[in-house]
Amino acid sequence: MKRPTPLLWISFGLVSLTLSILLMSDLAVNLIPDQAVEIFEYRQKYSEALAVQYSLLAENGDSRAIQEAFDLLVERNADILSAAVVLANGQTLALAGRHQETWNQPTGDSSTPDHIQVPIYNQAKRWGTVQLRFQSLGEKEWLDWLKDPWVQFLGMVVGSAFMGYFLYMKRTLRQLDPSSVVPLRVKAAFDVLVESVVLLDNAERIVLANRAFGEVLGKDPLTLVGKRLDEFCWTSVPSAPPLGKFPWTTAREDKCLELDFPIMLPDVSGKLLKFRMNCTPILNDGENVQGLLVSMDDVTKLDETIRALESSKAELESLAMRDPLTGCFNRRALFEAFEDLAQVSTSEGTDLGCIMSDIDHFKSFNDRFGHAVGDQVIQVVSKILSTTIRPTDILGRYGGEEFCILLPGQGPEGTARAAERLREAIEVQASQAVRTTEGTKILMSFGVSCFSLGAADPLELVDQADKALYAAKEGGRNQVGQWTTDGPQAGIPIEIEVELVGAES
Ligand code: GH3
Ligand code: MG
Ligand code: MG
Repeated sequence: MKRPTPLLWISFGLVSLTLSILLMSDLAVNLIPDQAVEIFEYRQKYSEALAVQYSLLAENGDSRAIQEAFDLLVERNADILSAAVVLANGQTLALAGRHQETWNQPTGDSSTPDHIQVPIYNQAKRWGTVQLRFQSLGEKEWLDWLKDPWVQFLGMVVGSAFMGYFLYMKRTLRQLDPSSVVPLRVKAAFDVLVESVVLLDNAERIVLANRAFGEVLGKDPLTLVGKRLDEFCWTSVPSAPPLGKFPWTTAREDKCLELDFPIMLPDVSGKLLKFRMNCTPILNDGENVQGLLVSMDDVTKLDETIRALESSKAELESLAMRDPLTGCFNRRALFEAFEDLAQVSTSEGTDLGCIMSDIDHFKSFNDRFGHAVGDQVIQVVSKILSTTIRPTDILGRYGGEEFCILLPGQGPEGTARAAERLREAIEVQASQAVRTTEGTKILMSFGVSCFSLGAADPLELVDQADKALYAAKEGGRNQVGQWTTDGPQAGIPIEIEVELVGAES
């Protein structure tokens, strides 16, 4: 069922108020006298006038004239049902109508609105009583109420007041209702939009909110009219500074467009939605701001998708750069880093050390304990190398059981010391970490070189370190071979500090 409009409610309310005032005034000052009382008084006076006339006839003993006058009275006066003159001794002198059947004697000489009795005196002595039975006042049909002038008066007041109030309030509300300035077809057009749209007046109060904005807040858009836009719980996006001036205030004060402003607002369920807000000031001919058009694009889902994509991109990049078995840089990433470090080394005139390393007799681990144990040995070696090098050094799996370490800023001595420290760390820690290789020792050979020894590019530097590694293998393994200006050499004694794991050189 259609609900009564506010206009109807207000009109009903005002009519009820008017009616109450009239009824209370009637109670206080008897605005319209009671008709029944008036009739009763009239009947009494009428009966007394008749009684005076009959008493004159009675004094003359003309009872016949009284009877004739009574017959005429009952016949011509529809309000009088019957009439009688009863003498003081109880004898009936005259009688008209069905008086005996309809007369109910009131107590004493009193009268009721439809039973009137008037005593007649003859020389101060009670001679008799005139009894007149009138139409009953109390048995009105409900339709008779409509004839009551009080009811008719109230009906007229209610009808005309309702019409008057309705027309007056309709006009007044149109003036007061800010949304009435927006034509219906404009509202309908805004409701079709997926983005939230709000029209503000110059005091930043909502003149119109479209369906999409109502849905965000879980409210009927009409109930938002008149509210200030800053009443809602706007917040800045996580990466931005806290909200200072609202964008629509800036747009109004500076008469400028505020476009693509990121802002957040909790929806009806409390979930924070992210919007891109555009605020456009509406200017009149005199370039004064009349209001603002604020539109909001919900980019929450888009933002979530972008973040998911960024995270998968980072994951993919990491997968593309990392060796899946050890988690350290793969060969491609290693060479990318190598190029960058070589450039820095050239531009800043600093050295760059390179260590190539290879597990000794690794094939025998695979052969004796299986490929899985071989993998485990590679993982353990990678872990020891990565925790022993400096944070600025770069570790990459060069291939199989070979690892390459880049040491920015390190010259031949520093690189050789680092390699010796790594060799010792592997010798001390690796065999304990892989239980199934008990009885066998995990050892590693190293080859080192530096840019300052003449390599033209990273490939040549790796080649020099590889040749030094080969020399270490040839020299008996578990040792550090070095590239020198005379070529690769093994067995050069290297002094390292006592503190080994993770130590600074
Ligand atoms: P050397 O002391 O001369 O280095 O002897 P080696 O046995 O370590 O030398 P070689 O290069 O002949 O053996 C390397 C072996 O490493 C060959 C290959 O099967 C094995 N290998 C390479 N990559 C992997 C891997 O990812 N996992 C395992 N388990 N084995 C690998
Ligand atoms: Mg090898
Ligand atoms: Mg090997």
